[in-house]
Amino acid sequence: MGVLTLVVSAPLMFGGTRTILISFDGFRHDYVGRLPDGVFKSMFSTGCRAQSLIPVNPTKTFPNHWSLATGLYPEHHGILDNRFYDRALVDTFAMSSTESAWWLGEPVWNTAERRGVMAYTYYWPGSNVAVQGMHPTRWFPYSGSRKYADRIDSVIAWSAMPQPPGLIVTYFELLDDAGHRHGPQSAQVDTALITAEALIARLVQGLRAHDVLDSVNIVIVSDHGMTATEPPSPDQHRVQSALFGDSSLVVLVSHTNVFVYGLQPDQADAVAERVNADAALKIRATPSKRLDSSWHINHAARVPDLYAEALFGSTIDTGKRPLPQHAGGNHGYHNSNVDMHGIFVATGPDIKPGLLPSFSVVDVYNVICSLLRIEPALNDGNPEIARRVVRH
Ligand SMILES: [Zn+2]
Repeated sequence: MGVLTLVVSAPLMFGGTRTILISFDGFRHDYVGRLPDGVFKSMFSTGCRAQSLIPVNPTKTFPNHWSLATGLYPEHHGILDNRFYDRALVDTFAMSSTESAWWLGEPVWNTAERRGVMAYTYYWPGSNVAVQGMHPTRWFPYSGSRKYADRIDSVIAWSAMPQPPGLIVTYFELLDDAGHRHGPQSAQVDTALITAEALIARLVQGLRAHDVLDSVNIVIVSDHGMTATEPPSPDQHRVQSALFGDSSLVVLVSHTNVFVYGLQPDQADAVAERVNADAALKIRATPSKRLDSSWHINHAARVPDLYAEALFGSTIDTGKRPLPQHAGGNHGYHNSNVDMHGIFVATGPDIKPGLLPSFSVVDVYNVICSLLRIEPALNDGNPEIARRVVRH
């Protein structure tokens, strides 16, 4: 029956239903229970839902969005954190870095286009980068000022085109912002959840109004969760100045973790010992060579010599700038903390309803490829997940 519908209603070049992939940055897995009654919340009971979506370490926005897009662990896709250093490029990655040398792997929009499925993106970390020398057919440079409703309205308009793209990707940051500023338990997160419900309701209503809802699969994910944080202790000013103050080191601090480069192998052990003995710093340092198998950041040019992480719920403050936008909550802690887990929910004609055990962000790439009926590129995901989510 599904095939008949496709033939009649969708003159798509790839001959399948189209897929919309949406990320709500920082949507913690248990926020679902706080969504107001409505279209979004009901997707979790009528669609296919994971208990939670497990982020890669460190549980930050850029590595996780790039793992979602490519199905690869950071050591294979190259985006180890929101900030990191590359010994070969002799340069530091920042979230604004759009030079293609940083971005490894094949994002799903490239896989789609290489297989003849048109892809449009409206924000997603990396969607504004010419990865493998190509962009999706349509993409935008990121601007946080674009209204959320405008993004949804574009997705609706694109879905209703006579020759719609087979894959549409978009991204919303409102839950991450509210969680950072006010904490995950805040009224502001509840307000953001009401907005998220309104956006998804607007999408579904718009697709229905254009009579395309039945030929669209909607997959909604998040990159990580959020946990409440205590104010940084005054002692944490010493993290950089007293312990990593050597000018020959490259030290990158991003709220919950520190990447340290330029240490000799024996030095890394000594510095870790010193840091870990100083309880007031509230961080735990590990030479990267001793990180356990839950870590996948062993990219030769980019792995730090030493990785230090704030104790769960504490924030590293170098004293250089106040962090009002990070006063209430944070993420970046190890993914064994369930507060770091995000969401996966999917609905549509090709989705098998049901509740699945938690799976990884690297498993989502195969799901999208399966929905598009295209061969995935080599990736780190478990192909079994796609078989459990997708009907065909
Ligand atoms: Zn964030």
